[in-house]
Amino acid sequence: MQVGANMKRDDCIFCKIAKGEIPSYTIYEDESFKVFLDVSPATKGHMLIISKDHYENILELPDEVSGNIMKLAKKMVGLMQDTLGCDGINLVQNNGKAAGQTVFHFHLHLIPRYADGESMVTWKPGNADTKQLEELANMYLNLG
Ligand code: 5GP
Ligand code: ZN
Repeated sequence: MQVGANMKRDDCIFCKIAKGEIPSYTIYEDESFKVFLDVSPATKGHMLIISKDHYENILELPDEVSGNIMKLAKKMVGLMQDTLGCDGINLVQNNGKAAGQTVFHFHLHLIPRYADGESMVTWKPGNADTKQLEELANMYLNLG
């Protein structure tokens, strides 16, 4: 089945949530997006934003959709802060199995964080010398 604008996939759990075929605790909904509570929350109040159309990851998202998701995320972050009084909020978005993506329908995690909570979304800072940074910048800039 070809997946494009306004398309849903029969085998996708988030398409089923988007259509209301699988129930969810919905916080916000419009014709393009749904925001609902993660069933296995990283912390109390963890939300997911999905587009109602099926896009596997950020590379597939049309620019208009990605722009609107950020606007909606900002609104939901305000709601989260006001409702929970959390001390911080992480936005996390996994693309690909290697990055931890388990549901292959684009989604943005909004995770409330608490001052006394366990640490997450962290990494051990690595080292890079000037030569390596310059080489990488040149690769990104396609300067050879
Ligand atoms: P990913 O690892 O792909 O970035 O995140 C997928 C998220 O979807 C996980 O945090 C998982 O708990 C959540 N999730 C998976 N299935 C369901 C479901 O049926 N309902 C809800 N509300 N969340 C789900
Ligand atoms: Zn889907």
